[in-house]
Amino acid sequence: MEQAKTDIAAKVALENLLAGNQRFIKSERAPRDFKLRREMLLSGQNPMAIILGCSDSRVSPEVVFDKNLGEIFVIRTAGQVLEPTSIASIEYAVDHLGVPLFIILGHEKCGAVIAAVSQEGPVPGNIGVLLSKIQPAIAKAKALNTPPEEMVEKVTDLHLEELAQQVLRESDIIRAAVTEGRLRLVIAKYKLASGEVQIFHEDYRG
Ligand SMILES: [Zn+2]
Repeated sequence: MEQAKTDIAAKVALENLLAGNQRFIKSERAPRDFKLRREMLLSGQNPMAIILGCSDSRVSPEVVFDKNLGEIFVIRTAGQVLEPTSIASIEYAVDHLGVPLFIILGHEKCGAVIAAVSQEGPVPGNIGVLLSKIQPAIAKAKALNTPPEEMVEKVTDLHLEELAQQVLRESDIIRAAVTEGRLRLVIAKYKLASGEVQIFHEDYRG
């Protein structure tokens, strides 16, 4: 019963987000009353989805899905790479807020992926650590004999799946929620020119 309810909530949330994306594509926007919204949210938050996305300034989830304050719980890093504190943020949203939907959102022409693919030798600061997290997808793309001109997008797609596997592997909380049907994991990619969010997996379970 609980599981069916969560699954319906996840389905409704995904439809809501995709409807928002359709408005965004057409340069439309749902009406907003920020003052009222702030008052409504004083007692707490109840977001419909968790979104793990890239820090790229062209891919702001609230804009892309036409969402208001309190509607989506967002974690962003370059290349949407994950480390323990970002996984913990997702765990908080799953465990404490009971969010039923988790979208891993990549995008075309990702600078982090481009940097990782073209990397030659060491890079300064912490950037090397970030790029190293994209290396498994690069190794897979090479093993698949991906042509150079398709490399960046192929690595991006494989990296998204790697990230889904990583959260399921490294987080007992997220894995349990997915296994028990309390959380739906979706993999999606944003198209820069059209603004469309394309769904790759609508119910990823590893
Ligand atoms: Zn990016």
